Amino acid sequence: MTTPIIEALHLQKHFPVTRGLIVSRTIGAVQAVNGISFGIPPGKTFGLVGESGCGKTTTSRLVLRLDSATGGRLLFKGADLATLAGTPLRDFRRAVQAVFQDPNSSLSPRMRVGNIVAEPMSATGTATPSQARDEVRRLLAEVGLRHDAAESYPHEFSGGQKQRIAIARALSTRPELIVLDEPVSALDVSIRAQIINLLGDIQRDTGVAYLLIAHDLSVVKHMSHEVGVMYMGEIVEKAPSDELYARPLHPYTRALLSAALPARPGASGGEPALDGELPSPLAPPSGCRFRTRCPHAMPRCAEVTPTLVPQGGGHEVACLLHATS
Ligand code: SF4
Repeated sequence: MTTPIIEALHLQKHFPVTRGLIVSRTIGAVQAVNGISFGIPPGKTFGLVGESGCGKTTTSRLVLRLDSATGGRLLFKGADLATLAGTPLRDFRRAVQAVFQDPNSSLSPRMRVGNIVAEPMSATGTATPSQARDEVRRLLAEVGLRHDAAESYPHEFSGGQKQRIAIARALSTRPELIVLDEPVSALDVSIRAQIINLLGDIQRDTGVAYLLIAHDLSVVKHMSHEVGVMYMGEIVEKAPSDELYARPLHPYTRALLSAALPARPGASGGEPALDGELPSPLAPPSGCRFRTRCPHAMPRCAEVTPTLVPQGGGHEVACLLHATS
């Protein structure tokens, strides 16, 4: 079996909550990520979807090593990310890059585009200055920008062009995984498809893997090979993309799809759109965390915590309605 580029095993990130100005004491913890597991093989896209606050972005920060986990493990090509040092850590820095939601804040306005794109190469020592200049020209062409864009500043470009610059920068170290955190949600609807197609072409050409973080289910559907649906820090359903969209099983997934894709013929089964607010992450409901919003909640949903159960074909769901395969 191919070793995943990144593998999360029961990954957990709890943020302590403290009270008191002079003598502070811990009064609880926000369970931002609570025991999730997934793997991303080379050349594949794993999509994480869910409402804002469900833990998607915390997961991406853990994968990028911008935060450290409070439990579980993250493996980079089989090695524990938390203990990487020296050459393996430099390899990780080169191999894992990111593209964020808003190119206006992720691109320095005072740097020329050529320097922005070349920056990761200098930081990771993967190219000499003259190699970097040639590589910048190649990358700008690859993302559909003129090579003389290197001499310009970010403000001279449209939102879609800025995101192309961010993608060129991410590609500059020849990464094996790019974390795409809401890569098109800040862009005009009219240019989202161009960026999605560009990312698809790049994956076909280079074999890069993606961790796609998005709340837009249609974006995730188009780009992902496998999808995980997150609710209050947990993955409640995980399946190959085609399977998930054709046969959503968890009431939360069904409600999300029903709200997002109302014209999908016959697949939602008349499931109502999501009602109610997310419960406080400081005090999640007992048993199933979705039970306060679930139209199918039963008394035992307050007592039993559902875990992911295989349903065949790589499809897993954490719901007591599907507790046996
Ligand atoms: Fe709804 Fe119960 Fe399933 Fe949770 S376990 S999603 S409350 S039916």
